[in-house]
Amino acid sequence: MSLFDTIDEPSAPLATVDWTPTRAAGLARLAAFLPHAGRAYARNRNVDRGPGDRSNVSALSPWIRRRLITEEEVIGAVLARHDFAAAEKFVQEVYWRGYWKGWLEMRPGVLARFDDALRALERAEANSDAVRRAIEGRTGIACFDAWAAELVGTGWLHNHTRMWFASIWIFTLRLPWQLGAAFFYRHLLDADPASNTLSWRWVAGLHTVGKHYVARAANIHQNTLGRFNPEGQLNESAGPLTADEPTPRPMPPPPGGSVSAPRVALLLTEEDLHAESWAVRADVAACAALNLPGVAGEGIAAARFSAGALADGLARAQAHFGATASTLGRDDIVAWAGGLGVEEVVTAYAPVGPVARELDALEARLAASRVRLVRLQRPFDTRVWPHATAGFFKLREKIPQLIAGRA
Ligand SMILES: Cc1cc2nc3c(=O)[nH]c(=O)nc-3n(C[C@H](O)[C@H](O)[C@H](O)COP(=O)(O)OP(=O)(O)OC[C@H]3O[C@@H](n4cnc5c(N)ncnc54)[C@H](O)[C@@H]3O)c2cc1C
Repeated sequence: MSLFDTIDEPSAPLATVDWTPTRAAGLARLAAFLPHAGRAYARNRNVDRGPGDRSNVSALSPWIRRRLITEEEVIGAVLARHDFAAAEKFVQEVYWRGYWKGWLEMRPGVLARFDDALRALERAEANSDAVRRAIEGRTGIACFDAWAAELVGTGWLHNHTRMWFASIWIFTLRLPWQLGAAFFYRHLLDADPASNTLSWRWVAGLHTVGKHYVARAANIHQNTLGRFNPEGQLNESAGPLTADEPTPRPMPPPPGGSVSAPRVALLLTEEDLHAESWAVRADVAACAALNLPGVAGEGIAAARFSAGALADGLARAQAHFGATASTLGRDDIVAWAGGLGVEEVVTAYAPVGPVARELDALEARLAASRVRLVRLQRPFDTRVWPHATAGFFKLREKIPQLIAGRA
C-alpha cells in the first residue's frame, strides 16, 4: 500500500474555487460541496492537494467570515444531507470558529496585548530582513516559499498548510509570531481577528500552555501528496514558546441589544453581511455599508473580496427592505442618521476586533446626537460563546445540544 492510498479521487467541479464575493457564489460552493461534507471530508480534509484542487475542503471561509452565508445555514444544509455521525467532523470545524470568537470575546485583553506587541515589533523593525525574506518567499525552504507566494497571490491557504507555515515561521525561522499573524491577516480572504490571532497562539504553544504544533517534514510530504519534502530543513525538536503573562480569566460575553424604535436605519459591516436575517421588524428608512478599508485584510485579493462583499450585502439589504442604500465612511454616519431622523441605527454585533472598536467610537458620537446604536447579536453566537471558557473539547461536547437548541 502506498503512502497516499487512503486519499479519495479529486472531484472535478469542486477543484477550483470561484472566489466571487457574493452570497450567491458562497451558496453555490456550499451546494457543490455538500455531497463531500460527510465521511469523505473527515478522511481527506488534512491533505493539501495544492491550489489547483480544493475539492476535499469547503473553502467557504471567506463567505462565512463575513456572514455572506451563516454558520447556521452551513450546518443546517450539511445535516440535511448527512447524518450527524457522518458530518460530525465538518460540523466541529465550523464550531471551531465560534469557539475562537467566544474565547476572545471573554478575554478581549488578549487581542489588545497582541496589537501592542505587533506595533512595538513593527516600530523596532524587528528581524526586518529575515521577515522580508519569509514574506517574499525567499527562505530556501521550498514548501514555505511556495505557500508565501500562494497566500499573497490567492488570499487563501489550506488549514494544514496554515499550521505548517506558522510552525516553520515560529520554530524553524524563529521569527516573532505576531509578525506572521499580521502577514496572514493582511492577505487572507477570511482574515479574522479571533481565528487568526488565536490559531497562531495555538501553534506557538500559548493557547494550551506547553502544547505547541511542530511541523514535520514527513507529515508535509505525506499530506501534500509528495509535492514537498523539506527533510532536514525543519526544526522538529523545538519547545513551545512561553507566555509573558498568564491567560486572563474569562469574563461573560457582553449581551447584544434589541430594536425598540418603529423606524430605524441599518448599518452593515464586514462582520455580518446577511441583514435579511437580522431580527428587525421595524420600518427600515435606509441601509448603509460602513466602508473601513483594510479592516479584514488589505492585500490585493483580500481588499477586492471585502469591497465586493460589502457591495453584495448592501444590494441584498436594499432589495429586501425596500430602502435606499449608500456606502459611507466612518465620518458620514452621524449626519446620515440625523438626515433620516431615526432614533436607532441598527447593526450586527461586532466581536472583539477593529470593527467593534469603530462601533464603540460611533456609538458615542451617535449618542451625542440622541441616536442609539443597537448591536444585534445572533442567537448562534449568544448560545455558543459562553461555552468557550476553556479548551475546544468542552464546547465540542455541547455541539449536539447546541444543534438541538438545548444549550
Ligand atoms: C495559523 C492559522 C491562521 C488561521 N486564520 C484564520 C482566519 O483568519 N480566518 C478563518 O476563518 N480561519 C482561520 N484559520 C482556520 C482555518 O485554517 C480556516 O478556517 C480553514 O482553512 C478554511 O478553510 P475551509 O473553508 O476549506 O474550511 P473547512 O475545513 O471546509 O471548514 C468549514 C468552515 O469551518 C470553519 N473552520 C474550519 N477550521 C477552522 C479552524 N481551525 N478555526 C476556525 N474556523 C475553522 C471555517 O469557517 C471554514 O470555512 C486559521 C488557522 C491557522 C492554523
